[in-house]
Amino acid sequence: MTQIGSEGNPLRVAVIGAGPAGFYTISNFQKFKEIHTRIDLYDRLPTPFGLVRNGVAPDHQKDKSVTRAYDKSAQQPNVRFFGNVEYGTHIHMDDLKQHYHMVMFSNGAKMDRSLEVPGEDLAGSHSATDFVAWYNGHPDYAHLEFDLSQESVAIVGIGNVAVDVARMLCMSDAERRATDMADHAVQALAKSNVKHVYMLGRRGPAQAAFTPPEIKELGELEDADIEVLADEGTLDALSQEDLDANGDKNAVKNVELIGGYAGQPLSGKSKTLTIRFLVSPTELQGDKRVSGIRIVKNELYLDDRGSIRPRATENFEDLQAGLVFRSVGYRGSPLPDVPFHEEWGSIHNELGRVTDGNGNNVEGLYCAGWIKRGPTGVIGTNKTDAQETVKCMVEDMEAGLCFSPSESAGAIVGLLQSRQPDLISYDDWSRIDAYELAAGDAEGRPRVKLTSVPDMLKVARAG
Ligand code: NAP
Repeated sequence: MTQIGSEGNPLRVAVIGAGPAGFYTISNFQKFKEIHTRIDLYDRLPTPFGLVRNGVAPDHQKDKSVTRAYDKSAQQPNVRFFGNVEYGTHIHMDDLKQHYHMVMFSNGAKMDRSLEVPGEDLAGSHSATDFVAWYNGHPDYAHLEFDLSQESVAIVGIGNVAVDVARMLCMSDAERRATDMADHAVQALAKSNVKHVYMLGRRGPAQAAFTPPEIKELGELEDADIEVLADEGTLDALSQEDLDANGDKNAVKNVELIGGYAGQPLSGKSKTLTIRFLVSPTELQGDKRVSGIRIVKNELYLDDRGSIRPRATENFEDLQAGLVFRSVGYRGSPLPDVPFHEEWGSIHNELGRVTDGNGNNVEGLYCAGWIKRGPTGVIGTNKTDAQETVKCMVEDMEAGLCFSPSESAGAIVGLLQSRQPDLISYDDWSRIDAYELAAGDAEGRPRVKLTSVPDMLKVARAG
């Protein structure tokens, strides 16, 4: 048998998950000009791009322009897209071992983390991840309903997802119509009664997880004032000392921006977004459905590892809120036949090589993106993350550490068609893409999304 990776015997790789980490796996392989590859990119949805389509905020069109580079990767002759195919349903580990030398998991982290406080299961309490998927038109979430007749909404957490959710709730109808937010969400939010949104941070402005451009953008909303209480927007001595000694430029800028909002009078816009610091929820209140949230005031202390942590005081406060979103991070979920770290919510791995949890490599299996490192970083972070994994894959290929597929590279298509007659190719997706862009053009919007799989299939087949 000729060397794996040669022209006569290309390295065959299945990439499970067509989000940024999946596409950056392809582009990183393309840098190894001397290695011949055949890469099949799978996604359980008919649409590629993962969180760039279903997570990135609808008004952040510039961030979404990375898909132009992804298009170029997908259109290489050695790359195929198999959309609408779910690992564990239509294709299994044994199938992959028979058809590929290596399998790379880049399926992301779609679950949410819970708050672990009483009342979390009341009606009106939701995960921000569900709301994000809903307003972005993810087909599995399009049917969800959120009671937007409520006037007050609380968002727990002050990461960039919380900021996105707050911004979507506070935008004017005209601002939302300039985005590619799903039509059902634009319509529901246009009728919303929401007037007051709280974002609740358990630590102070110097420890906030949001980033400066995002927090600055909130101050530019047409229809919402930003409120920060004067005492919460001012740094405590511990945070100031830490910022002076170790503060990164984001933390310094965040503190400056929050300081600019702190104590400012409201200008009378129709909505108010209040960003609270040093508060933690202790209970979601209400009978059957949420009517409020009890918060406790925190103080900060330095833990054994030198991190600034929150500690509850005895001061409680009740906020009125008929809708609560927990936005305290995503987590991955386990996949069949792939070792999983339950506590971390990610695949056991070393630099992207899947391990069995005891440090031993599991031959032929790799991971990249959020399912590898956890839900952190921006889109571009996945580029270097995938680069690290691809480097390991190339080293292992050279050492002969991979599966020995018994089937030819072409055989997978027949197998997939037998398991999933509604298989979607990149050409099919391009028809869906063109349809959505044309629908957007007709309404002066960047795109009008199809939000159901049957509708996507209809458009894909129309070509
Ligand atoms: P995140 O950045 O990790 O923020 C999570 C937030 O939840 C933090 O404020 C955290 O506070 C808080 N939190 C965690 N557990 C809590 C608890 N039990 N009670 C109260 N608060 C709690 O997560 P994310 O917002 O989901 O974002 C995920 C990643 O996507 C991040 O890297 C983010 O930057 C990125 N993202 C980027 C953009 C953008 O670039 N525009 C947009 C969306 C998402 P502590 O800090 O105290 O733990």
